[in-house]
Amino acid sequence: MELTLYNSLTRKKEAFKPADSKRVTMYNCGPTVYSYAHIGNARAAVVADVLFRVLRHIYGEDHVVYARNLTDIDDKIIKAAQELGVPIEEITEKYARIYNEDLAALNCLAPTMQPKATDHIEQMSDIIVELLDKEIAYISEGHVLFDVTKMKDYGKLSGRKLDDNLAGARVEVASYKKNAGDFVLWKPSKKDEPSWNPSNRFPPGRPGWHLECSAMIKEQLGDTIDIHLGGVDLKFPHHENEIAQSECANEKPLAKFWVHNEFLNMGKDKMSKSVGNVVLVHDLLKDWDGEVIRLALLKAHYRSELVWSDDLLKESKENLDHAYRYKFAAMEFQKINTGTLFGFDISLFNDLGTPEAFKDIIFHSGFVSQVVQRIDKGKDLSWADAKALDEYINSWNLLGLLQKDPEEWFRGKGKDGGLSDGEIEALILERTEVRAAKNWARADEIRDVFAEENIILEDGKDGTTWRRG
Ligand SMILES: [Zn+2]
Repeated sequence: MELTLYNSLTRKKEAFKPADSKRVTMYNCGPTVYSYAHIGNARAAVVADVLFRVLRHIYGEDHVVYARNLTDIDDKIIKAAQELGVPIEEITEKYARIYNEDLAALNCLAPTMQPKATDHIEQMSDIIVELLDKEIAYISEGHVLFDVTKMKDYGKLSGRKLDDNLAGARVEVASYKKNAGDFVLWKPSKKDEPSWNPSNRFPPGRPGWHLECSAMIKEQLGDTIDIHLGGVDLKFPHHENEIAQSECANEKPLAKFWVHNEFLNMGKDKMSKSVGNVVLVHDLLKDWDGEVIRLALLKAHYRSELVWSDDLLKESKENLDHAYRYKFAAMEFQKINTGTLFGFDISLFNDLGTPEAFKDIIFHSGFVSQVVQRIDKGKDLSWADAKALDEYINSWNLLGLLQKDPEEWFRGKGKDGGLSDGEIEALILERTEVRAAKNWARADEIRDVFAEENIILEDGKDGTTWRRG
C-alpha cells in the first residue's frame, strides 16, 4: 500500500518514499512549555501521531524515528517564571509533564525522542559560526542576524517574496537589522535572564526560536529528514527560517516533505485569547474521555479547518459507544488475530484521509452489527464473521482509537451523564452474561443503573429489547 502526502513545499500530493526505509525520520515542532496546551495544539499533535502510526504500520515499529521538541527557553517562559518568582526549570518541567500527560490521554504515542532546546546550545552555536563564516549571518548590536538577501530561494515554502516584507512596510525596522526580513539567530540576554557563551565568535546571550529546531533536527535526526510537520501558523516565519538556516549551513534540503495541518475554529471565530474562547485539553479531559476528543479532532481532514463544537464531541462519543459495544462482543468470541484491516487503508493512506477512513469503518459496521446480533443469540460464528470483527477493531486501533477495555469504557460517563444507546446495549449484554454466571450482585447493580436512567427492558424469546421510559 502506497502512502501519498500533500507536500506544502511542492504544493502537490506526492508518493512518500523515505531515504532509508529502516530509519524513517519525522520532526514536529513541539510546545513552548509555559502554560497548558489548547485544543489547536492537540490537533497538530494528533495529526502527527496518526502519521507516526501509519508509518510504523508500513515500515515497522522500530523503523520510524519521531522527534518532537520542547522549547524550554523563550520570552514567555522567562516572564512566567519572573511573575511567579520561581526558577525557569520549575515552569518548564511542570508544563512539559502536563503536556505529555494530556497528549497521552488522547492516545498519542510518546515520540521516539523529545529533545530540549537548552541541551543543544553547542549545536546552535555551530550553525551560527558556519553562517558567519559564509557571511550569510552578521553581528549587530549584540545580536546575530540572518541576512535573508543572501539566500536565493528564501521564501520558497510560504511563497512570500522578500518584497512582500519590505514594500509598504510601515512597521519600524529594528535598528540592528540590515533588511526588514532579517531574523534573529541569537540575541543578548537582559539582566536576570539566562545567558550562554558558547563561542568567542559572537557575543553571549540566548538563542532565537527558529534556530533551536534547526539545531535539534541536525543533531537528533540528520541534515535532511523525511517529514517535517507543524501547524499552518508555523509555516511563516518559523518553518521558512528553519529552512533558511539549515539549508544555508548544511547545503542540503532540510526536509523532503512538509506537512501542515490547518486551523481549528469555534464556529464564527478563530480560537484566541483575545476572544476568550480558548479550550484547554486539560479542561476538556475532565468531561470527556481522551478518545472522544481524539476522534473529534480527526473528523475533519487535517488540511481543512475544523469547526470545534460540543455536538462534534457528542457525535464522537456516540460513534465510540457503538464501536466499544462491538469490541465487547468480539472479546467474548473466539479470539483471532489477522493483523489485517478492512481495506479502509486506501482512504487513510491517501494523504491521511481520516474522514473517509471513518466513513469506511462505519459502512462496514453494518456487517459487524449483524455479527454481533448473531453472537447475542448464541449462534456459532463463521471464520469470516470472526475476521470481520477483528479487522474492524484493527482499523480503529490504527487510528489510535478503541484501545480501552470495553468495560472500563462503559464505566466512564459522558458529559451529559446519561447512558447512550451503545452503553445500554453493552450493559444488557453484560447483564445476560452475569446472570448466566449467577453473579447476582453485578446483575442487581446493572438493574439499579437501568432504574435510575428510566430504561425499561423486556425479555423475550429472541433476547432482550429496551426502551426509554
Ligand atoms: Zn520548529
